[in-house]
Amino acid sequence: MPSAETLAEARRSLEICNACRYCEGFCAVFPAMERRRAFSDGELEYLAHLCHNCRGCYFACQYAPPHPFNLTLPRVFAELRLEGVAERARPPALRRLFARNGLAAALGLAGAIAVVFLLTALFAGPEALFGVHPVRPGSYYEVIPHALLAWPVGLVAVAALVAIGLGLVDFWRGCGTALHTPLRATGAALAALGDVLTLRNLGGGGHGCNDIDEAFSTTRRRLHHFLFYGFLLGILATTLAWIESLLGHPTPYPFFSAPVLAGTASGAAMLIGAGGMLWLHLAADPAPSAPGQLAPDLAMLGLLAAAAASGLLLLALRATSAMGTMLAIHLGCVLALFALAPYSRLAHGLYRAAALWRNALEARAGKGR
Ligand code: SF4
Ligand code: SF4
Repeated sequence: MPSAETLAEARRSLEICNACRYCEGFCAVFPAMERRRAFSDGELEYLAHLCHNCRGCYFACQYAPPHPFNLTLPRVFAELRLEGVAERARPPALRRLFARNGLAAALGLAGAIAVVFLLTALFAGPEALFGVHPVRPGSYYEVIPHALLAWPVGLVAVAALVAIGLGLVDFWRGCGTALHTPLRATGAALAALGDVLTLRNLGGGGHGCNDIDEAFSTTRRRLHHFLFYGFLLGILATTLAWIESLLGHPTPYPFFSAPVLAGTASGAAMLIGAGGMLWLHLAADPAPSAPGQLAPDLAMLGLLAAAAASGLLLLALRATSAMGTMLAIHLGCVLALFALAPYSRLAHGLYRAAALWRNALEARAGKGR
């Protein structure tokens, strides 16, 4: 659960908004807010995840600072999301490390894992690590054994999914009473899936979001699309490679093969998305942002960009003596990405999908009307 101070500030802000209602056409948060007269802790978190941080209600608000009400809804919601996701994530030691200094934790973890792989590869002799390996099936495993390459990534990915899943169940229970019949739940899930796949809410009704300042722009939505679909293509590439290996064709594969084409498109899209989002975060007016939000966001975007760039470099350099080193660095980035996912903006993506589903259910049930 987020801290009592953050919850109290969110409750105070929403009570003012619920009386004002000037922003009711801005996003899904305001209609969901208007269905309620009071806000439980779980409902506050639900509304926070429904917010896509367009910052429109900050630049439009007559009660924003320097008004004595000091209302900054996007910042309060960002703090709620940050604290809620992190508090549910396990283990707490990694959570504390990431909260204290996200960038150092992310890069340090990726570097440490890469060094472990490099040292392991050195056991097979310097020739295995620094030699030139012809690009042929199984040549990656001459540097790092298959079991060491596949198992840690698989186990850390499953552990991250379980950690996020347990948090999501807890979050869903806190949202309120069940509202669904199976038919209504399916219809609402399809509506939420449509919202997720099109990132419709980031369009702000066509004019976009206040990405940097009062001016409207659709840049953030486009960059999110690059990042989101790049990530999905990465999952597709990994799945295709896994199927190939089950059929007895170990990695690496020719450039014009399905796993490599999907992986290359994924790396390029994620690099554009993560790089652009890094720039947006640094250029944006910090007033409506949570003070503790920038460091973990930069860390996760930096790690996504590093994973994408190291994957592309591995492809480009796989016929050279740098292949072993690039393979270790890429694995380090990917493992660190999965290990830190439960504490980061990546987990928020799944919480947001759950909030959109909940919102579609409420709208169909006509809750509170
Ligand atoms: S953010 Fe400000 S203007 Fe918008 S509904 Fe709330 S109080 Fe009113
Ligand atoms: S920041 Fe945007 S999405 Fe979030 S509550 Fe305000 S208007 Fe809605």
